[in-house]
Amino acid sequence: MSASLDDMYRDIILDHYRSPRGREPLPMADFSTGGHNPACGDQLELAVKIDDDIVKDIYVDCKGCAISTASSSMLAEILKGKTVGEAKRIATIVRAMLKGDENVKIPEDLGDIDALEGVKKFPVRIKCALLAWVTFMEGLENYQNSTKKPDTLTTLE
Ligand code: ZN
Repeated sequence: MSASLDDMYRDIILDHYRSPRGREPLPMADFSTGGHNPACGDQLELAVKIDDDIVKDIYVDCKGCAISTASSSMLAEILKGKTVGEAKRIATIVRAMLKGDENVKIPEDLGDIDALEGVKKFPVRIKCALLAWVTFMEGLENYQNSTKKPDTLTTLE
């Protein structure tokens, strides 16, 4: 990877960190969930509004490092407006990419998310980038699998 590409990735991550998307609270959310990455101290609150099988809106508030905040901002930006199935597919791809699955390529229509690929070079930061995606997936699965909807807390091992 060239130095200029690294700079570009860093700029994208800093842009999301400085002006994170998805900060409007969602009082009518269909599910809300939390995430915690003890290795870094990142804390995340996530709320999702689903309407007619579409992810209508996402609220995400991340108190953590630049990587976790930028990653959660990207999640809010890219998953909003997607169908639930598509949102799940994207989160699965990003999670597999961050976990180092060489067979996974980030589709080009996912905007800024490829900037997260740069994080793979810094293994201690991978969990920071993963936090929002794993939290979203677990919250969604919990929402889909239960008739009552208790809040969940996802803690990365
Ligand atoms: Zn972090």
